[in-house]
Amino acid sequence: MQMEINPDLAEVRSALRKFTQEQLEPLALEIDRIGEVPAEAWSLMRDAGYLGMQLPQNYGGGGFDMSTYCLALEEFSRSSRVFTMLLDYTSGLAPLAIARSGTAEQQDRYLPKLARGEWRAAFGLTEPGAGSDSAAISTTAKKTENGWVINGSKHYISGGNSAELILVIALTDKQKRARGGISAFLVEKGTPGFTVTRTDTTIGSDAIKLGELTFDDCHVPDSALLGEPGDGFKIAMGSLTSGRLGVACSCIGAADRMLEMAVQHAKDRQTFGKPLAERQAIQWMLADSATELKLARALVYQTLRSVEAGEDIGTAASMCKLYCSEMVGRIADRSVQIHGGMALMRGFNLERFYRDVRHYRIGEGTSEVHRMLISRDLLK
Ligand SMILES: Cc1cc2nc3c(=O)[nH]c(=O)nc-3n(C[C@H](O)[C@H](O)[C@H](O)COP(=O)(O)OP(=O)(O)OC[C@H]3O[C@@H](n4cnc5c(N)ncnc54)[C@H](O)[C@@H]3O)c2cc1C
Repeated sequence: MQMEINPDLAEVRSALRKFTQEQLEPLALEIDRIGEVPAEAWSLMRDAGYLGMQLPQNYGGGGFDMSTYCLALEEFSRSSRVFTMLLDYTSGLAPLAIARSGTAEQQDRYLPKLARGEWRAAFGLTEPGAGSDSAAISTTAKKTENGWVINGSKHYISGGNSAELILVIALTDKQKRARGGISAFLVEKGTPGFTVTRTDTTIGSDAIKLGELTFDDCHVPDSALLGEPGDGFKIAMGSLTSGRLGVACSCIGAADRMLEMAVQHAKDRQTFGKPLAERQAIQWMLADSATELKLARALVYQTLRSVEAGEDIGTAASMCKLYCSEMVGRIADRSVQIHGGMALMRGFNLERFYRDVRHYRIGEGTSEVHRMLISRDLLK
């Protein structure tokens, strides 16, 4: 029986599974081949009400809680990581920060556009000199008479190459840094002084592009400040904590699909006169994968239930992200091994999954950073 976050979500899962299999899956391989997200994918997600899922209903969002959002990520991830990114751009790290910390004016201006998928928002924290050590950012925002002037650069910003809106985390007080010296700004595409200076792709799908963003005397009005001056680090970390549970669920979805493929292949493929499924070496790989997947679900769903109950989850989000991102890597590797050569052939689903899941151990806090956070909590 399928383990669920709560029994009410069983029906939601069925609807998501049906939508993903029937509508999204036929596009997945083609998206990987052409390296672009077709307009059709956006319309399908919009029409089914999945864009802006976590945004408040009075702004056109779905008003769904984190558990439902995470379940959607899990199910979309069974097809392609690309579909989870459409959710992120319209309802993930940056949109959620606006929904949580924005003024009424900011929410009126941005949330309806994001909920309709007309605008996409990117989350701009990482810099060439500040990745894991995110408090070491050097992009600055200086107060002027009627606003702020931003200078510096961000890189590896998912969707930053084309987003209409960037949440820029900048230093406003060098002495205070993460303790009240970092602020968050909403910078619109086309603002003078803001340019996309490079677009990167990774070993994962070319349809997920990363932007290098440069701010050269980029003037923004006072209304671009999100929250109070000095709130930026807290706002960024708040979004990242939720994001880590989303990443964990995306890992679960991908692992689930890859294990399913491995089980099927083990039954279908005969070597030396018997199906692979009858070989103990293969059975053990499947058993280890199924055990780790079940453990991952138990950990993440339990944490989501704690979030629903309003409990302090402490470092549990880090544990979920750490365990699930490493678990999906192991399951990807075993599934490839069980398939043999065919798994490495371009145009085969498992091959793109294998490439797409590697990023999970790096983005939104590397495994080492999460181990640091978990152990810091233990040793305090
Ligand atoms: C596909 C992708 C999408 C991304 N999207 C975004 C985005 O949308 N927005 C955004 O702001 N950023 C984004 N990032 C950036 C990502 O958050 C950073 O790459 C990540 O935080 C690591 O930073 P870094 O690459 O500078 O590595 P570094 O910080 O240089 O770390 C290099 C290695 O050293 C390890 N390490 C660092 N410090 C320690 C330590 N103290 N002890 C032990 N080991 C340590 C790290 O774990 C890592 O293995 C994205 C990255 C990727 C790959």
